[in-house]
Amino acid sequence: MSTPRCISVKAYATSSASSPLATATISRREPGPRDVRIEILFCGVCHSDLHFARNEWGFTQYPAVPGHEIVGRVKAVGRDAGKFNVGDLVGVGCLVDSCGNCPDCRAGLEQFCPETVMTYGSSDKHLGGGTLGGYSQGIVVAEDFVLRIPANLNPAAAAPLLCAGITTYSPLRRWKVGPGQKVGIVGLGGLGHMGLKFAHAFGAHVVLFTTSPGKAADATRLGADEIVISKDATQMAAQAGSFDFILDTVAAVHDLNAYLGLLRRDGNLVLVGAPGEPFSVAAFPLIMRRRSFSGSLIGGLPETQEMLDFCGQHNITSEVEMIRMDQVNEAYERMLKSDVRYRFVIDMASLK
Ligand code: NAP
Ligand code: ZN
Repeated sequence: MSTPRCISVKAYATSSASSPLATATISRREPGPRDVRIEILFCGVCHSDLHFARNEWGFTQYPAVPGHEIVGRVKAVGRDAGKFNVGDLVGVGCLVDSCGNCPDCRAGLEQFCPETVMTYGSSDKHLGGGTLGGYSQGIVVAEDFVLRIPANLNPAAAAPLLCAGITTYSPLRRWKVGPGQKVGIVGLGGLGHMGLKFAHAFGAHVVLFTTSPGKAADATRLGADEIVISKDATQMAAQAGSFDFILDTVAAVHDLNAYLGLLRRDGNLVLVGAPGEPFSVAAFPLIMRRRSFSGSLIGGLPETQEMLDFCGQHNITSEVEMIRMDQVNEAYERMLKSDVRYRFVIDMASLK
């Protein structure tokens, strides 16, 4: 590996699973011929950032810089990069590279490519070590992994679309959620509130399952037709056997069997929440009505651009609470208490 010239940028990093994030200086490569250098304006705070920073998935390399809901301005483009101009408003999500040749890449499903490079936590083939994410002033990305942000969207409120948006849009589209269907969204956090907005925009009858009664009024405003407090057994029993599709966005292990029992014959429960610990799934709720239980991982580049364009056309963005970079540790603690309405977004101008 020949080491390219580097640029130093400020970032927020952590050096162990138990230490808080703090200011650091990191290296970015000089843009190669097909690369784009981006000044980061805003970065959303995903629960995956917390799982990763605290090594809850078991593969974190330190120092770790989370952040994969990036919106910024193009500052420089490589010699052979033709898709973007300096000054364009762009986004970067969870992926920054892939092989480009395998069946998954050819299908536009780069998230499943065996050589896919995640924005953080993958091996950095240019600089060595791990890839470092968006809690930083700048990033250099292959242009094929850079997305256009529609001009009518608020850039800070568009940042969470790059992960929370595509992660909910993709399974709802794949399972053709639409009019005449009863659809459940479990958990009203970053992913859940985007799932609610999309399922509503696609014309389904949408039911929100929440552990937080205080979020009910917001859920109605965000598109829920009904709200079920999931800790209330009577409310849960009233929904038995009635759902075509349920999207589960919860960040912790919980009782999946309770949701499987709410599906109709041939209904499907799709899990996108990614706790590090395994779930327990009982046979009977699955086999009795030929129900399915499946998973979904973000979305590929073409579908992510489709989702952004859909958001531009329908004026959909995230509900955000803006924070300074130095508030991110506190934001993690609040996220663990389900106290986020509904996505923290870091104003990167605060990283000095
Ligand atoms: P978040 O903002 O923290 O929201 C999670 C919500 O789940 C909470 O607001 C809460 O909603 C509910 N919840 C939390 N703990 C719970 C518990 N113990 N029991 C029941 N409900 C609970 O998190 P997020 O950023 O949306 O991420 C959610 C999960 O998706 C994380 O595990 C993340 O890593 C994962 N993720 C997966 C993908 C993918 O591609 N598959 C992509 C991004 C993120 P209520 O207050 O309404 O109950
Ligand atoms: Zn994420």
